[in-house]
Amino acid sequence: MNTGQETASPVRTLTCTQCGGELHLQEGQIFLNCPYCGSAVFVDKTRVVFHYQLSPTLNPDQALGALKRWMSGSQTIKDLDKKAVISAQTFEYFPLWYFRWAQAGREGISLEPAAATAVTEIRALSVPAGDLKPYSPELENQSTAPSVPVEAALAWLKQQNGEVEIRESSLVHVPVYHFKYQYQNKSYTALVEAGTGQVFANLYPAKAEAPYRVIGGITAGVYLLLALLAAFGGGTGIITALILAIAAAPVLFAIAAWVASKV
Ligand SMILES: [Zn+2]
Repeated sequence: MNTGQETASPVRTLTCTQCGGELHLQEGQIFLNCPYCGSAVFVDKTRVVFHYQLSPTLNPDQALGALKRWMSGSQTIKDLDKKAVISAQTFEYFPLWYFRWAQAGREGISLEPAAATAVTEIRALSVPAGDLKPYSPELENQSTAPSVPVEAALAWLKQQNGEVEIRESSLVHVPVYHFKYQYQNKSYTALVEAGTGQVFANLYPAKAEAPYRVIGGITAGVYLLLALLAAFGGGTGIITALILAIAAAPVLFAIAAWVASKV
């Protein structure tokens, strides 16, 4: 038993990715700055990786604005921005594994969630490389700690892309607003990335495609009949088919426009 001495002894010694300096870790410590070169690093079970952050440029109101613009856009049902009821808005720094890889002369960047999330679509985030800053320890109380090991994320990446040569593995904490909203008695989640304003959702009230398929089917059917009339109706058949085809076009267009305004 240690008497009076509160200084914990380092339990692990690792090497800094940047300068090769010795890093002494305390029990449970995962985020640290190298005392020699100042690099922000994250310590996974198996390795030490660079640790970056993106800085938020959106305040809570602007994040809500980005969500509303997405809701009024073409992916979601009409007027979702007016019909949805926002029930929660929270902020955090969410961890992503950032892999820079090469394969057959091609280079790519892939992101994988480093913690559990209902919105795995966040992996589609495009991170401007110039915006990556060393992670600042002051963000720790707003940050979710990684719970997905880097090896698991790498295995997933290789499963998606085949054998790739990994050039860089890093951890990036990205600022995100989590929104919960209700629509027709169902609850949905959407993320607004606060650095770039990109919106992500796995499930959302999507614009229905069925009415468009029906209109497409009717249009095809009408023109098939007219083509048959032209082919087998003799001289008057061709003239009649031509007139009907010209007459039908604005009608079908009007129906399509009406459907588009409803869904
Ligand atoms: Zn260092």
